[in-house]
Amino acid sequence: MGKGLLIVVSAPSGCGKGTILSEVLKNDSFFYSVSATTRAPREGEVNGVNYHFLTKEKFEELIASDGMLEYAQYCGNYYGTPRKAVFDKLEEGKDVILEIEVQGAMKIKERCPEAMFVFILPPSLGTLKERLLKRGTETMEVIEKRVGEAAREIEAAYKYDYVIVNDDLQTAVDDFITAVKAEKMTVKRSEKTIDGVLGK
Ligand code: 5GP
Repeated sequence: MGKGLLIVVSAPSGCGKGTILSEVLKNDSFFYSVSATTRAPREGEVNGVNYHFLTKEKFEELIASDGMLEYAQYCGNYYGTPRKAVFDKLEEGKDVILEIEVQGAMKIKERCPEAMFVFILPPSLGTLKERLLKRGTETMEVIEKRVGEAAREIEAAYKYDYVIVNDDLQTAVDDFITAVKAEKMTVKRSEKTIDGVLGK
C-alpha cells in the first residue's frame, strides 16, 4: 500500500452519497476511483467520468487478467474497481475513494485490511422513502422494494469503521473530512511520525 489512505464508502441508494462525495472531491488531496460497469449509461453519465462503461466480454477479460481489485454483481450487472489507478494514486500520496456496494467493500476488507471503511446512513428509513418519492422516478411498489433493500444493506454498516448520517449536507461533508483526519492520527498510521520524533 502506498502513502495515501484507501477509503471505502458505501450507502444504500437515495442516501445522498454522490452529493457528499462531489463536495469532498473539491479538495484535491482526494482521488475518486472511477469504476467499471456493464450497466448502460444513464442520461448525462459520461464514459470515463462516472464509470468506464464496458461490455460483459471486456469486463470478464479484465477479471481474468487480474485487472480488478474487487468486483461484484449488483442488479444483474458487473461493477468493479480497476486495480492500477488505485495503487498509482495511493503511491502519489492521494487519498483514494472507492464508492462501492457492500459485497465489494467486504472483499477490500479481506485484501486491504488497512483501508478505512465509511458507511453513509439516511436519518431514518422514513426519510429515505420521502427522498425517493420526491425524486419521482419510481413507482410506489419499486420505492417500497428499494427501502426494504436499503434496510438489508444497512445491516452491513456494523462492519464498517465510521458512520455518517446524511441529515444536513454540509455537516455530512465536514464529518467525512473529520473522520479522514482522525483516521490519519491513529497510532497504527503514525508509527513513522513517532519514529521521526524519536530519531529512529
Ligand atoms: P449505480 O448503478 O446506481 O451507479 O450503482 C449501483 C451500486 O453499485 C452502488 O451501490 C454503487 O456504490 C455500486 N458500485 C459502483 N461501482 C462499484 C465497484 O467498482 N464495485 C462494487 N463492488 N460496487 C460498485
